[in-house]
Amino acid sequence: MNINIVGAGVSGLSIGSYLQMNGYKTAIYEKNPIPGGLCASWKKGDYTFDGCIHWILGSDKGSPFYKLWSELLDMKSIEFVNHEIRVSVELKENSNKYGDKIFRLYTNINKLENYLIDLAPEDEKIIKRLIGLMRLFQKYELPPMIENIAPLQSWRQKMGMISYLPFLLKFLKWKNTSNYSFSKKLKNPFLREAFELLFDGEEVNLMVLIMPLSFFDQKSAGYPIGGSKQFARKIADKYVSLGGKIHYNSEIEKIIVEENSAKGLLLKDGTAHFSDITISAADWHFTVFDALEGKYVNEKILKLASLKKLELYPAVMLVSLGVSRDFKEYPHFFRFPMRKEYRSPDGSVYNRMEAHIYHYDPSLAPKGKTIVALSFYTRNGSFWVDLRQQNRPEYNRCKNDFASHVIDFLEEKMEGVKDSIEEIDVATPATYQRYTGNWNGSAQGWFPSKNLVAASPVTIDLPGLKNFYYTGHWSVPGGGLPVVLKSARDLAQKLCVKHKKKFVVR
Ligand SMILES: Cc1cc2nc3c(=O)[nH]c(=O)nc-3n(C[C@H](O)[C@H](O)[C@H](O)COP(=O)(O)OP(=O)(O)OC[C@H]3O[C@@H](n4cnc5c(N)ncnc54)[C@H](O)[C@@H]3O)c2cc1C
Repeated sequence: MNINIVGAGVSGLSIGSYLQMNGYKTAIYEKNPIPGGLCASWKKGDYTFDGCIHWILGSDKGSPFYKLWSELLDMKSIEFVNHEIRVSVELKENSNKYGDKIFRLYTNINKLENYLIDLAPEDEKIIKRLIGLMRLFQKYELPPMIENIAPLQSWRQKMGMISYLPFLLKFLKWKNTSNYSFSKKLKNPFLREAFELLFDGEEVNLMVLIMPLSFFDQKSAGYPIGGSKQFARKIADKYVSLGGKIHYNSEIEKIIVEENSAKGLLLKDGTAHFSDITISAADWHFTVFDALEGKYVNEKILKLASLKKLELYPAVMLVSLGVSRDFKEYPHFFRFPMRKEYRSPDGSVYNRMEAHIYHYDPSLAPKGKTIVALSFYTRNGSFWVDLRQQNRPEYNRCKNDFASHVIDFLEEKMEGVKDSIEEIDVATPATYQRYTGNWNGSAQGWFPSKNLVAASPVTIDLPGLKNFYYTGHWSVPGGGLPVVLKSARDLAQKLCVKHKKKFVVR
């Protein structure tokens, strides 16, 4: 059976690999000349700038996700870095009892617990509840039955779900807690401000903090030395070694449909490529409303598209600097207040900055040098996308203006950084959108709703359309590489069940 896949991002490469393992003949059509999509890094002079991975769930053998990644690439060939501190947050208002304004989010849970209680003994009870939840998550990280879709689970696995009851009850109790509502329960002013600022002033479901921390503690959420492009390249190599074919520089314009059945792909160059099944692993909005002209929708899809159900994950303004010093005296990831509020050309107002210093990955810069990357999240990605389309000189002016402002702010925190800059790269939401097609430059698809359980994922098929499936980071709010891997694997299993094949991995 022939299957055409749109997009050689990690989703397209993953579904392609699993299908090849199961006897399907697949071909991926990718608009770029290289694989990876958002999982990208690029070279400028002597520096490699990274646009994606800071951590990957499943980087250590102890994690069930390690097993899944190992199905797609040789995990042993990658060196992972596990940081002692996830993020250092400089507060604006409060200092702790040691006169320190920096809040350190330790990745070791015991250390974090001791640190929090030492700073705020009056909050011991609630701190212990938070840490207890992280420990519970570790115990129930990925139930074995989640590895396979329901029809492929054994009775023993299904019954095993009962043992997850304590976890489920705790999860339901906490599912609506955000960093804001949690911080309101704290008595200590330093901790209260720290939790408010954990996501730079955004109100985010606390699970988004708790889950990764439980993995960081187990050293199963590391950063792969070499960065994003190398990681994606390894999956692409696996796909090709399984007999898959990637057609680069092949932009899809339409999905060809006859009698409500997907028949193939129409490329921008006018060529048509037919298959029994079509899978899109490209942007969800493009797939539904451009490639399929919005003909296969229902009320739920229209609600998602009008952003009434879920918000888009914010897009990123990423200013990357190749600098001639390693700045090892600074934490690898830190956030701090800016002296003066800054209004970006897209209207977003920033009074804090986020800096990543890649001094832990020597492969990205020459010896003694490093990359400093500044990320600014915006909910107005469309501003940059539209401006680039309508007025390129003004777009370039705004982009350069943005970069020079934020570099000036950085200089106030990291003295001498400005003089050490050898290369600058500015990626706007328009860059992400142009390169990967993601709607308004969204970094990870849908933003998780405050109520995680209410979040409604995209379905793998579309109403009224036969022989078509969707997979991608839009499938589950929050996106990210583990979601991409799991969604692709699930879809491959569903197809195997449908075609009465035994799902195998090789
Ligand atoms: C700044 C940033 C940091 C991130 N950090 C992390 C992290 O630390 N950990 C983590 O797990 N995740 C992280 N993510 C998220 C992760 O990168 C994404 O969720 C994931 O890479 C999405 O993969 P995908 O294949 O579903 O989509 P994409 O990567 O968007 O792939 C879609 C592919 O389809 C192609 N395509 C689109 N339209 C067409 C067309 N018309 N014709 C042909 N091809 C087409 C695109 O070129 C692309 O290759 C980060 C993302 C960003 C932006």
